[in-house]
Amino acid sequence: MEKIVVLGAGESGVGAAVLAKKNGFEVFVSDFSAIKDNYKQILKENSIPFEEGGHTAEKILQAKEIIKSPGIKENAPIVEKAREKNIPIISEIEFAFKFLPKNAKTICVTGSNGKTTTTELIYSMLKKMGKPSEMCGNIGKSFAMTLSESSKAEYYVLELSSFQLDGMYDFRADVAILLNITPDHLDRYDWKLENYAASKFRITQNQNISDAFIYFSDDKNIEKEMKKHTLKQKLYPFNLSSDILKNFADCKLKGIHNFLNITAALLAIKHLGLDLNLATKAAEEFSPVEHRIEPSGMINGVEYINDSKATNVDAVWYALEAIKTKVVLILGGVDKGNDYSQLYPFLKEKVTAIVAMGKDNSLIHKAFDNRIEVFDTSSMDSCLEMCIKIAKPGETVLLSPACASFDLFTCYEDRGEQFKAGVSKRMK
Ligand code: ADP
Repeated sequence: MEKIVVLGAGESGVGAAVLAKKNGFEVFVSDFSAIKDNYKQILKENSIPFEEGGHTAEKILQAKEIIKSPGIKENAPIVEKAREKNIPIISEIEFAFKFLPKNAKTICVTGSNGKTTTTELIYSMLKKMGKPSEMCGNIGKSFAMTLSESSKAEYYVLELSSFQLDGMYDFRADVAILLNITPDHLDRYDWKLENYAASKFRITQNQNISDAFIYFSDDKNIEKEMKKHTLKQKLYPFNLSSDILKNFADCKLKGIHNFLNITAALLAIKHLGLDLNLATKAAEEFSPVEHRIEPSGMINGVEYINDSKATNVDAVWYALEAIKTKVVLILGGVDKGNDYSQLYPFLKEKVTAIVAMGKDNSLIHKAFDNRIEVFDTSSMDSCLEMCIKIAKPGETVLLSPACASFDLFTCYEDRGEQFKAGVSKRMK
């Protein structure tokens, strides 16, 4: 039996382990930290041996192939050791692809922002048409876990992160969508945007002439990277003047970024030769995904909007563009090397004040002091109390923090949920 080692026992690692086991491989799972109970349970139910709290090199380095979870860095000692021994290291998506049902198609979505929204949009369009489809990858269930459950869909809509793409070699997307490339996760790419861009472009590799590459043609970083590739697949560039949305009535998704997301989704449907009218209807009915410019309530004539998923400056830019009133903007958390100057044009005329919420707000002060008033807070409660004090009726309080959440919250969902609970508690 061929021996496969899976590094990392989260959603993707456990999915890969189960799929490998079901297909007759000898599997061993190793996690440097503690494994969550629900995942341990799945491993036990499938009789898959595992270790946690450390990696046993002797065992791992016997592998024929290693499946590395996306959270594990390239410079982790065990990964370096495996590379020295020339053991192939792939991602769970690469492994799972071998088990894709015959004739099924993959629609793959990547980009710095908009992946989840666009993936969900395409899935909702396929559902509306009654097409057997699955949505997985960097969203909900892993691709491998989905396939291990003997899924027989015709379409697999996959959200793909750059970390997943990094371990992909033979995978081929029938439809590939690249929404944008803006600085994010650069700590994993030697602080070089070109490395991150190259990773995103792996979504186009192995595509043949009948496949589609749908991309945002006004994105300077995409344009630059395009020049380095010879692409033979069918190209579908889109931008703000794309007119595929001609018959569009109205939509709960606001902002030009969502216009772009919907356009990309419709181009995928068009390429697949599916019903554009039904797809357009699905987009009209689509509600914002939780924590993405999500209306969360009114206090004293002020609307509160939860955009906790905005963990980089570009996402904040689009949120501010989408909101038509004056805004009290909540920023802060763990800064990944932000350049806030992109937001300066919104100051005064749209943003009336900034409420910084974090353990260390110094970078927010550095970027905004002398330009606009910055109020300091260090918990969701103190932040909301401050917003209630300073926001005037008719204005909007926008939580769109441009930062990761790990200083005060467990994750962006926790931050968004605390925001919504805090708003709703104060609404009476
Ligand atoms: P991802 O899965 O790539 O993080 P999401 O759909 O979860 O994308 O959205 C993340 C953040 O980016 C949200 O704040 C959202 O409003 C914003 N956003 C969504 N689509 C785009 C886009 N096309 N361009 C820029 N920002 C976007």
